[in-house]
Amino acid sequence: MIEISGLRKTYRSRRGSVVAVDGVDLAVGEGDVYGVLGRSGAGKSTLLRCVNMLERPDAGTVTVDGLELTGLRTRELRPARHRIGMIHQHFALLSSRTVAGNVAFALEVTGVPRAERKSRVAELLDLVGLTERADAYPAQLSGGQKQRVGIARAIAARPKVLLSDEATSALDPETTDSILRLLLDLNRRLGLTILLITHEMAVVKRICTSAAIMRDGRFAESGPVTELLQQP
Ligand code: ADP
Ligand code: ADP
Repeated sequence: MIEISGLRKTYRSRRGSVVAVDGVDLAVGEGDVYGVLGRSGAGKSTLLRCVNMLERPDAGTVTVDGLELTGLRTRELRPARHRIGMIHQHFALLSSRTVAGNVAFALEVTGVPRAERKSRVAELLDLVGLTERADAYPAQLSGGQKQRVGIARAIAARPKVLLSDEATSALDPETTDSILRLLLDLNRRLGLTILLITHEMAVVKRICTSAAIMRDGRFAESGPVTELLQQP
């Protein structure tokens, strides 16, 4: 579902250049939950942002669901990105819109006709367990509820792939567990392929089938979680 080959990304500034991703190869199968574990600065976020082409890599290829994104022009990228949802540590919700409004907005920008939106919003809120909070504003929600809105919005366009950027890092352990259970549930019910980045080993152990440990822009090790995270 996700294939990355020879990926490289360097940031250049007046203070010099930083090689953030330094030759990464990765294959994530359909329906997999894949984790990239590493400390701050390892290059995880840059890697993830190259998968949906929020960053253009300097070298290498990214293919999602059979479509090579690195071969597309900028204006071809926008529709292609709809096959990839993304969730964030700080949720990135629209504060002036209700829960339903945030989800409806995601449907609107992906071209879902107005007539279909209401039922799709209801369906999505049901999937993430937020039906009761449809008319609340983000400021009235708990962290876990905010992330549920983030997830509903990310899967609104029925993507095959969900990217998670430290989605539980701002949450307490109990809430983290409920969000991870929701992600696993969506993985199983919708066949959603998940690629997540985290600095927490516990997150990888809890939901990932395979993982990589990232250090200095490279994958130091990778493989099935059962083998990778065994104590030596
Ligand atoms: P992680 O997500 O693992 O914390 P990042 O991908 O954010 O790692 O960062 C990898 C390296 O790239 C770090 O050295 C970071 O300082 C640098 N970096 C990230 N984003 C930028 C940017 N926009 N401009 C310059 N350097 C950046
Ligand atoms: P705004 O666009 O000003 O944020 P709303 O937040 O009131 O407007 O609603 C936006 C969209 O969400 C509309 O398409 C509406 O049909 C849908 N919607 C609003 N409330 C609900 C609800 N409780 N259940 C399902 N859909 C809803």
